Amino acid sequence: MIRRKTKIIATIGPASSSREVLERMIDAGVDLVRLNFSHGTAEQHISIANLVREIAAGLRRPIGVLCDLQGPKIRIGKFENGKITLKVGDKFVLDANCKLGNQERVGLDYKLLTDDVEAGAVLVLDDGRMVMTVDDVRGDEIFCTVNQNGELSNNKGINRQGGGLSAAALTEKDREDIKTAAAMEADYVAVSFPRNAADIELARRLVRKAGGYASIIAKIERAEAVEALAEIIEVSDAIMVARGDLGVEVGDAAVPGLQKRMIREARSRNKLVITATQMMESMISSPIPTRAEVSDVANAVLDGTDAVMLSAESAVGKYPVEAVAAVDRVCLEAERDFDSHSLYTEAGEVDRADEAIALAAIYTADRLKVDAIASLTQSGTTAKLMSRSNTLPPIFALSPEKETRRKLTLYRGVYPFLFEEQSKDRDVILQAAEDDLRRRGAVKNGDLILLTIGEPIGQAGGTNTLKIVKVGG
Ligand code: PGA
Ligand code: MN
Repeated sequence: MIRRKTKIIATIGPASSSREVLERMIDAGVDLVRLNFSHGTAEQHISIANLVREIAAGLRRPIGVLCDLQGPKIRIGKFENGKITLKVGDKFVLDANCKLGNQERVGLDYKLLTDDVEAGAVLVLDDGRMVMTVDDVRGDEIFCTVNQNGELSNNKGINRQGGGLSAAALTEKDREDIKTAAAMEADYVAVSFPRNAADIELARRLVRKAGGYASIIAKIERAEAVEALAEIIEVSDAIMVARGDLGVEVGDAAVPGLQKRMIREARSRNKLVITATQMMESMISSPIPTRAEVSDVANAVLDGTDAVMLSAESAVGKYPVEAVAAVDRVCLEAERDFDSHSLYTEAGEVDRADEAIALAAIYTADRLKVDAIASLTQSGTTAKLMSRSNTLPPIFALSPEKETRRKLTLYRGVYPFLFEEQSKDRDVILQAAEDDLRRRGAVKNGDLILLTIGEPIGQAGGTNTLKIVKVGG
């Protein structure tokens, strides 16, 4: 049984919200869906989440749901004629009070931008398609000189080169959307444009207050977030290398190196990591990827990412199913070349039994020819710890907890299964787990497998036992 270890996240949008396309995308390999709260209504997101859960139930396979908050994307307002054309040297005014823009000025939906910029600041609009330098700020007006020829159209985003915009990471809309995410039992909530650990901690408090159990993903897409990377990773469950906005703030050429560093740092701190944006960009309009895109996806796998994400490719592109299939085959192939030992963390001292067991399992799997690892888990922690070191054999995570199984869809090399043996007797449970895996075709007679379990039975974080078993006696 060949299995892809790297997980696939597909953003759902108009191109992929029908049952038929969703089913085909899931069949092609989608592990989690991303609902992008920058677009669509709460009702639309809820109905897609329900549909995904229905399909997942039919397939007896968990599919994760990730709600991505819009965050404080700073945007210009609208133009009389929809768009304008600007030339190098043109004077242009960003005016917090302007209702409808023209060739000279345009409004701002983030009124406080005037407080955040000063003469000399460089503003990057529409993901780099327009650039202007601030000459002066007077009252509610920001006077600029255009640095680049190009078009500017309605509601385009504004970033400040080098970062430094003070907009809070969680807007009023985000706070409402967190309630929607909790109500639909989202497995992950992604925070856009966090600046520091406090932004993530606030998001987590709001999710819990709304009754949600979601894990929190920090999207690293501001220059400040790169500087605060260690503290952000510490308080997050996962980070996203959000290459779109990140490239605008720090410059596109800095992104590949940062991607490698972020993946390395997240994994070494036992956290998850997603690589996102423009992975298969040309497949928005083409049925096959470019060589560069194939390399990019493969390199994210070689860097050690847990998941790769499709954005516009699956949300609004012409080939959502083909894009998933392309990511699937590229990941599988790249994993064959992956040097697992390159990510073998030389663990120093550990202070927890489950971590010691996870390391012992990895050590054993590397030296004894082991076919699979099976982790009986409540919270998924042991499976996560093992997946951080990238074991060669697959890690089957057997859990009675629905929320745990859904969250495990994001972990590289981990395959969640429902397991509901009620016995409190360790040997009865381990035998049931072995039988269960054999019935599913995950292991066969003669396979050597490692089993991890915690005693007393049924406690989260209680893994303290490792057993080596030959399947079928
Ligand atoms: P977005 O975030 O798609 O919500 O902008 C990802 C990124 O910026 O890369
Ligand atoms: Mn972004």
